[in-house]
Amino acid sequence: MVAGTPTDPVAADATDLLRVLDDGDVSAEEVVSAHLSRIADHDDEVRAFLTVLDEQALEHARDIDRRRAAGAAVGSLAGVPVALKDVLCTRGVTTTCGSRMLADHRPPYDATVVSRLRDADAVVVGKANMDEFAMGSSTENSAFGVTRNPWDLARVPGGSSGGSAAAVAAHFAPLGIGTDTGGSIRQPAALCGVVGMKPTYGRVSRYGLIAFASSLDQVGPFARSVTDAARLYTAIAGHDPRDSTSIPEDVPDVAPTLEDGVDGLRIGVVSEALDDGVEPGVAVRVREAAQLLGKLGAEVVDVSLPHARYGIAAYYLIAPSEASSNLARYDGVRYGLRVDGDTAEAMMAATRSAGFGSEVVRRIMVGTYALSAGYYDAYYVSAQRVRTLIIRDYVAAFERCDVVLSPTSPSTAFEIGAKTDDPLAMYLNDAFTVPASLAGMPALSMPAGLDDGGLPVGVQLVAPLLDEAVLFRAARALESELAFDPLPRGANAVHPPVAARTKT
Ligand code: GLN
Repeated sequence: MVAGTPTDPVAADATDLLRVLDDGDVSAEEVVSAHLSRIADHDDEVRAFLTVLDEQALEHARDIDRRRAAGAAVGSLAGVPVALKDVLCTRGVTTTCGSRMLADHRPPYDATVVSRLRDADAVVVGKANMDEFAMGSSTENSAFGVTRNPWDLARVPGGSSGGSAAAVAAHFAPLGIGTDTGGSIRQPAALCGVVGMKPTYGRVSRYGLIAFASSLDQVGPFARSVTDAARLYTAIAGHDPRDSTSIPEDVPDVAPTLEDGVDGLRIGVVSEALDDGVEPGVAVRVREAAQLLGKLGAEVVDVSLPHARYGIAAYYLIAPSEASSNLARYDGVRYGLRVDGDTAEAMMAATRSAGFGSEVVRRIMVGTYALSAGYYDAYYVSAQRVRTLIIRDYVAAFERCDVVLSPTSPSTAFEIGAKTDDPLAMYLNDAFTVPASLAGMPALSMPAGLDDGGLPVGVQLVAPLLDEAVLFRAARALESELAFDPLPRGANAVHPPVAARTKT
């Protein structure tokens, strides 16, 4: 985006901001305070943030400016604002996980991702809204209210990382951090017209990430461009001895191949994903994206993931099973809320009844049932077998192609309230995102254009384990050809930033 002028830093993406900051045309304090003003003026429309960290962000920005002026070292994202999903622990700063259970929780330590953002001098401007314990696809399950989609304030931003996605789309911050267990970065990225990426499982530390389903949870970036997403991914990825599932390997640099194009790459289109259950407006844009990649020199082939159709069923057993175990810690003793009762058991029952919302309760019940002695083999073990079959589907697909392409979500952003009474309809939003989660593969959603109603459509790219480089490379090539403008527009869109308005 060329509109990144020092006079209106909120219109600029991270790469442009870094350039003007580095040239001394604008200070980190000016960049951060411009974003804080925009949040103050317009977050009552969007409600992306649960906590805005004005003081802390400005203090960090001034410190960066002082260091820069003194010729001292600054990090790779020095002065760039970032919206942080409220699932990541921040020392001394309320971390709610979207739940009444943790409404007053102030962790005594920072998540590793938060420390790495700090090392990179990215400036955290606020903690973003989310579905309670990251369970949901619309951010309507937050105990603290719904976040609105910046493209149409009557619609959902997707979820569970809807606050972070909406913050980036609304130009409250050029960068955001989300977490993805079954699609919670990619699906809100698709619905908000931004880039969202889930790294290979184990690539980014889960230390200090409040657990939902530990074998699936992964932290990743949101941005308005592929290049910015790659920068943020680079800042947070890497081995962490504090997370036993963290991959003990160096992270290959994704930057050198980012602009290499797709000449010579094979793109596998999941043809069955373009049939039933996908809105025609979504299927059209995804087919066009495949054609464009072909035009750019990629070989486009059809691939099949025959077991992906069982992904939802497997995921909605595995994730609740792990959640039922992970959420046992909220007992009124160790963390967060306590509601008194006459006995310890009554206290725990009262605490959990008051602290958890209905979707969380549903998952705990499903998970406890699936893990119970009489049903474990029938449900949990079967689901794990399906998981293996899906992994094998990807292994077979990656013999025929380098990147797998499909829609991210079967629909564009839906109206607030449209699916809240029908959990199964809500779960179907994840049909295309859960397979890569179950297989641990890196996956990215990027905007592929708009549907007939003027809402963003997301296309998903999936790459083999540990090959984030090819994922970003293919995405960057597609992005440069699509030239999608990520500025929300339409009758009911969030108020645009000044420079962006005068630009068009
Ligand atoms: N929508 C999915 C769910 O509700 C995915 C959530 C996530 O990735 N955190 O479980």
